[in-house]
Amino acid sequence: MKRLIKPKEAVLILIVLAVLTVIILLGNNSKGAAEITVITETGAQVYSIDLRADRRFVLEDLTGTRIPDMEFEVSGGDIRVTKSDCPGGDCVHQGFASHTGGVIVCVPNRVTVRLTDTENEYDAVV
Ligand SMILES: [Zn+2]
Repeated sequence: MKRLIKPKEAVLILIVLAVLTVIILLGNNSKGAAEITVITETGAQVYSIDLRADRRFVLEDLTGTRIPDMEFEVSGGDIRVTKSDCPGGDCVHQGFASHTGGVIVCVPNRVTVRLTDTENEYDAVV
């Protein structure tokens, strides 16, 4: 009777599975941060957002003024806009940015939300 999987093939499959597992684990570890960029009259502000803790939040600019009426939600490592005063509310309808490279854009409020691999700690660029 012919075996379906030869021993050498079995080893190869195990190696592939091990490599895939490592890639998946690394992917999960890097999926922990997002950047929200807000373009204001004085320049661009970049907020680093930790995605490891579920919560809802609002953003304030450097003077403590809340940026155009928007609320954000972090849930399960993903981020979305839950409320916005922009016409049409496209950013709310875009839902969760759910993987690295995911982007939410609010053109009227000049806000972009981008998931990142790294957790850079800069918060303002003029
Ligand atoms: Zn919007």
